[in-house]
Amino acid sequence: EDKLIRGKVIADEIIAELREEVSSLKEKSGKVPGLAVVLIGEDPASQVYVNSKEKMANSLGYHSVKIVLPLDSSQEAVLAVVEELNNDPAIHGILVQSPPPPQIDEEQIILNINPQKDVDGFHPSNVGLVFTGAKDGFPPCTPWGCLELLKRSKVETKGKHAVIVGRSNIVGKPMASLMIQKGVDSTVTICHSRTADLGAEIRRADIVIAAVGIPEFITGDMVSEGTVVIDVGINRVDDETRPRGYRLCGDVDFESVAPKASLITPVPGGVGPMTIAMLMSNTLLAFKRIENIG
Ligand code: NAD
Repeated sequence: EDKLIRGKVIADEIIAELREEVSSLKEKSGKVPGLAVVLIGEDPASQVYVNSKEKMANSLGYHSVKIVLPLDSSQEAVLAVVEELNNDPAIHGILVQSPPPPQIDEEQIILNINPQKDVDGFHPSNVGLVFTGAKDGFPPCTPWGCLELLKRSKVETKGKHAVIVGRSNIVGKPMASLMIQKGVDSTVTICHSRTADLGAEIRRADIVIAAVGIPEFITGDMVSEGTVVIDVGINRVDDETRPRGYRLCGDVDFESVAPKASLITPVPGGVGPMTIAMLMSNTLLAFKRIENIG
């Protein structure tokens, strides 16, 4: 359908652009970007994410390292791995897959990643750089992917009312900070679990960005005609009729919302592939900054 924002197709375009740049930089410098992904334990969903990041990095010709630590790893053991990667000249990007097991203090781990290698953009130094509009931060991959989807779909953001549902540090808050940047120029409302009348807020939106974590939570009655809908949610819902016993769906009820939306992202195939593309883009950026090339 015409109103679909095909994230997978747009992500493939970005990946092709990156592939070209990586190969020309390799020719010039003899070096390639290096990405290290640290996984603590073997949570199946996290494994899927980590494997697809590793596969994509390999396919782009990056140096790619996957480190799987035991589920009962101590904080010190994880910090030691981070320190080693901070000091490894072949590694330009480091990420520790979230969520870590409960004995791990994630905040402290993030604080110990060299901000220059923090390609997830979660280090407070990067959060601050992005918030102030400085050029040398790393925007977090998911919100940046959403913005890139809007840009490449030629959605006008200037002066438009963007309603963001969710206030997490990895999606909602940084999304708001990107949408109010000069050049994007949206007027932003941030909604969350204590918002009094969510439907009323969303009905006033030109652009809705849903990052709630509740399957098919936003329904057609909450959305006005002509709204652009970006669905960040990735939820597994039991479904006996599917071979795996579940299906993936977003935080938006596609059935009832799509008829009213002017543009809408599907799940899967919307924001998800963009997150990985932007991670690869940030890793290339880290490489260029650290190696002082490009
Ligand atoms: P989170 O659980 O940290 O945050 C959810 C937010 O939703 C909270 O800020 C909360 O205030 C808000 N919320 C909860 N109930 C609400 C309600 N009834 N009304 C209004 N707001 C409510 O989740 P997150 O990490 O921001 O992720 C959100 C979703 O996006 C999840 O489905 C997650 O799987 C998905 N996600 C996708 C990607 C991707 O690559 N596409 C990346 C990260 C997260």
